[in-house]
Amino acid sequence: MTLVPPGSTIGIVGGGQLGRMLAMAAAQLGYRCHVYAPEASGPASEVAADWTQASYSDGEALARFAQAVDVITYEFENVPAAAVDQLAGLGHVRPGGHALRIAQDRLLEKQFIATIGGRPAPHAAVDDRAALGAAIAKIGAPAILKTTRFGYDGKGQARLMDGSDATLDRAWAEMGGVPSVLEGFVTFAHEFSVILVRGQDGAVRFWDSPLNVHVDGILATSTVPAPEAVRAQIGEARALAGKAAEALDYVGVLTLEFFAAAEGPVFNEMAPRVHNSGHWTIEGAVTSQFENHVRAICGLPLGATALVARGAAMENLIGAQANDWPAILADETAHLHLYGKHEARPGRKMGHVTRLGFGAEG
Ligand code: AMP
Repeated sequence: MTLVPPGSTIGIVGGGQLGRMLAMAAAQLGYRCHVYAPEASGPASEVAADWTQASYSDGEALARFAQAVDVITYEFENVPAAAVDQLAGLGHVRPGGHALRIAQDRLLEKQFIATIGGRPAPHAAVDDRAALGAAIAKIGAPAILKTTRFGYDGKGQARLMDGSDATLDRAWAEMGGVPSVLEGFVTFAHEFSVILVRGQDGAVRFWDSPLNVHVDGILATSTVPAPEAVRAQIGEARALAGKAAEALDYVGVLTLEFFAAAEGPVFNEMAPRVHNSGHWTIEGAVTSQFENHVRAICGLPLGATALVARGAAMENLIGAQANDWPAILADETAHLHLYGKHEARPGRKMGHVTRLGFGAEG
């Protein structure tokens, strides 16, 4: 156990909304945060004590950052492995680089999950156009081609409704010819996630698993409690997530996303960080994912994760939806979060709103 007491400085790699909410939770516990990001500013700027603007390949800036902070975490998983290795050599990086490396690579992630007894979607590696033909012959259509690295929010994906040469040519061109994974299209009733926190002593706590609804590949809503069809699969999904956390000797919040399919929970992807589907925990749980992440990486006791209401519903405000803030605030029980982004581009996560249910309807 390495205790990083309140009053210390937490280094956060990445300066987006997850960094903003992490820094707010850290401040409540008496920590300062120092963000490292390539951009000049971001959603975390207003709430972080310090901000280093430098590229992830700037070894000198990384060294200065590691020197200036007491523990390092990240809110963004596409940090180059070399930067994480350098930071790990200079200070405490939690969670460790191993989890990050696996989560950065869809193929490694699926292999890891299969190794620990999980059920990923049927898939095949696609490194060139010829391999795409072989993959579709093996997996069948419909299928989804995803870039192996750097995909998020449905970006870097192409859907293949049939296996014709024209469809394969178009999909391969759409992906820009980068190494990819072809996934069989999973028939599922619902999507859900398992969000857990693991302390330095190996203690694991789970939050209620939300039902997640995606629109155009982007999370739209997360709701707890999830319907019975999902609740029936949570035990198996939690067992897998717990095994993953243990195998990675993980410290902090870890999120696994699943499809609730007829054959049981099918693993979709893993995020080695706080997650959008856990934003409802800020008001809806005794301790939020952000606070427990801070507690875990700093070696503090973990807080309880139980729901504080009958239910909670989080809705993302994407693009122009954030302009509806007056109507949202007209509901005096709604918890509005705006991330301070200036330009409401389509598909951009601008904020979210959480509503708690206290009545019999939950
Ligand atoms: P991802 O970025 O991989 O999480 O994909 C974004 C969304 O696309 C998921 O949340 C699903 O709604 C859908 N999706 C991704 N992969 C599959 C799949 N293999 N089968 C069916 N739907 C998928």
